[in-house]
Formats: sequence, C-alpha cells, structure tokens
Amino acid sequence: MELIKKPDYCYIKPSTHFDGLEVYFLSKHLGIDSGNLEFDSYPSLKALQKISSYFPINTKEMVFLKQIHGDEVINKTNKKKSYPSGDAIITPLKHIGLFLKTADCVPIFLFDPINKIIGAVHAGWRGTSLKILKKAIQKMEHYYKTKPEDIYIFIGPSIGACCYQVKEDVYNHFSFLGKERQNFFARRKDRSYMMDLRGINAYIGEKAGVLTDHIEISELCTFCNPEFFYSYRRDKEKAGSNLSFIMMK
Ligand SMILES: [Zn+2]
Repeated sequence: MELIKKPDYCYIKPSTHFDGLEVYFLSKHLGIDSGNLEFDSYPSLKALQKISSYFPINTKEMVFLKQIHGDEVINKTNKKKSYPSGDAIITPLKHIGLFLKTADCVPIFLFDPINKIIGAVHAGWRGTSLKILKKAIQKMEHYYKTKPEDIYIFIGPSIGACCYQVKEDVYNHFSFLGKERQNFFARRKDRSYMMDLRGINAYIGEKAGVLTDHIEISELCTFCNPEFFYSYRRDKEKAGSNLSFIMMK
C-alpha cells in the first residue's frame, strides 16, 4: 500500500495497479464528521461533493451500505439509487463506487480481474466472527463464477493488534480458528487479549482460496494515527468515520 500525502488530506492506495480499477482509502479529512457516526446515517451531499472534487467519481455513482455488523452480502445488479442494509456488497457494474464507512473496523475490497467483479466488505469483530469476507467470496463464485484464486484483496487501515484490546467474550467467538487462534490473540496478564483483526480477515481470505500474494494489507493503525484517521476506540462519541471506495471504470 502507498500513502499519498496532499496538502489538506491524504489517501492510501494499493501498490498493485489494474487498468480501470480505482481503490482509495481516504484520510479523515475526507471522512464524515463526528456527531454523524450512526451507521444508518447517510453521508451529507457536501461531504460527497468534496470527495467528488478530488477523485474521479461523481456523487451519483456512490453507493453506501446501511452497515449493521451482520453478514448480509448485497448483489448490486442495477444502477438504481439504493441504500441497502448489509455489510458487504458485490457488483459487476462499472461506474458504481462501493463505499465503506469505518472507524477502527476493517475495510476490505475485492477484485476479480477475469470476470470484472468488485466487492466491498465491512468487517468489525462481529462480521469477522461471522466470516463475512468468506461469504462475499462465495457470492462472487455463485453469481459470477469467480475463482477465489483469481481474486485480489485490499485491506485498508484499521485498528491494529497494538491497540485493539478485547475481553474473553470476543475471543470466544473465534474458536472456529482452531489452533490458529493463538496467532491472532496475544493474551495479557489481566486475561484480556490484543486482537489482530485484519490478520484474521487475511487468514479467512486465504482459507477461502485467495492467494497470499494477492492480498495487500495496510499496516496503518487507525488508533495510533490521529492525524490521519478517526478511531472509535480512541475518540469515543467524538469519532467520525473514515471513507473508502472501490470502482471500475
Ligand atoms: Zn495502534
């Protein structure tokens, strides 16, 4: 991943380039202000126009999800304006920008360059424990004959294992990882754990058949980098949300 710094904002983009594919993880300067964190609130037109002025996308091409920390995967097959409930979305359509709102959760984008399919996945610990990334890959296979080994995955800035302390109740949701679980949860003296949320998602992607060298991960931690990102854990009710999107042209 590359961090591109501009005078009044910055963004992260994958190092792997594909013609006609746009993938951006935007800094908080282009995010949604605090006080608008509720996942069911739609971003203001002003915020979207700002993005439109810096990036090759117009506001009519932007699609947001009403994110609910579940495992529903939406298959978007028309350009009608919609605001579906779900935490993942896939589409074969060009000029449809799939957006994610995150403030510590893991934003994940998928691309099948053979069948030209894109996907976006919002993975907090709940969605991750429901293996939402695997479910998105399965939907791409089901609807578009995508082969997992063709997929590229881009994992954006999110809270790192340096800062993501969880209690045993969260840890207990990840018994499906088997022996691998210990690689993603560092146990502390007080019986809490430091959790590697993006690492688990990369692992779930690999287990679903995505090649290791097709997975790009931003190591930037949202909590550790207040100058770049909102962090729900750090900012509490003052947190806004960071935006990211993927689009085919
Ligand atoms: Zn950190």
